[in-house]
Amino acid sequence: MTSVTASYFDGKTSRPHRVTLSVDAGIAAITGDAERTCAITELRVSERTRNGRRKVTFPDDAYLEISDESAFDTLLAETGYRDSAVVRMQQSWRKALAGLLATIAILVLGYIYALPLASEIIARALPDSVERSISKGTLEFLDQRILAPSQLPQARREAIRQRFQRMVPPREGAPAYEIVFRKSEIGPNAFALPSGQIIMTDELVQLMDDDEQILGVLAHELGHLHEHHLMRRIVQSSAIGAVVTVIFGDVSAIIANIPTLMLDMKYSRDAEREADDYAIAMMKANGVPLSQLASGFEKLRAKQGDVSPYLSSHPSTAERIAHIQSAR
Ligand SMILES: [Zn+2]
Repeated sequence: MTSVTASYFDGKTSRPHRVTLSVDAGIAAITGDAERTCAITELRVSERTRNGRRKVTFPDDAYLEISDESAFDTLLAETGYRDSAVVRMQQSWRKALAGLLATIAILVLGYIYALPLASEIIARALPDSVERSISKGTLEFLDQRILAPSQLPQARREAIRQRFQRMVPPREGAPAYEIVFRKSEIGPNAFALPSGQIIMTDELVQLMDDDEQILGVLAHELGHLHEHHLMRRIVQSSAIGAVVTVIFGDVSAIIANIPTLMLDMKYSRDAEREADDYAIAMMKANGVPLSQLASGFEKLRAKQGDVSPYLSSHPSTAERIAHIQSAR
């Protein structure tokens, strides 16, 4: 058995005792200027001390400072001591955990700051053909499931189209749009597809008691188009989906998810505010009273008891109405 030279401190005085440490049958024994024995399971082997030496602590806080490090390492190996391995493992676990936390932090910050910005840039840079194919696919999907041909009289639809067309857009670079009427199973609803179709349901037209309220809703949707909100949302969700795909390796889930995303579109509060501001500016520029815009949203809110995706995609109606009224 290996013996190791060490200094023994009794924990009461600072005087070192020159000793030799050896281990036999699980019992550590020191001999020399001081003598004691202790089961090795009672001992703690610590990190290096201030002067760089390993420290072995007894239950009563007396301790050894190891003088001969390599002999001590041999002794630890002989006794099957695992502490250093555990310490190494804990350190690597700690590193792995820190790495994981850093990754999560980067992803969260990226999600909050970088992703919306990147999504906006990508959405604006995407060729029109991408927007067209997404819009076409989505409208076909919705037509198969929840939309049906409009039952409004042709003349009524044409009157709304022409009235909105006569309105001057409030800002430069007004988006191209087309108003598409549909009967729906989802009640009063309006939403804009990326390539410019504004879908308006018969139920919404019937709900409004003044056409100026319909113009307000259309202006709001035109605002979403102007800011490319939906495309930004799709790009953003796809980016998240792409990360999920890399992790879980399933692309089909993302593709299948796009129509669902459209139906349950929850724009951010900022996006809604931007669309409202666009509508407010458009109403003002064309001499339409803002009270009509507010009334239109009030009516939609009154329908809130119904399961209406329009409302789920347009939260905080009270806040919006307050905002419109403050803009007068
Ligand atoms: Zn909106």
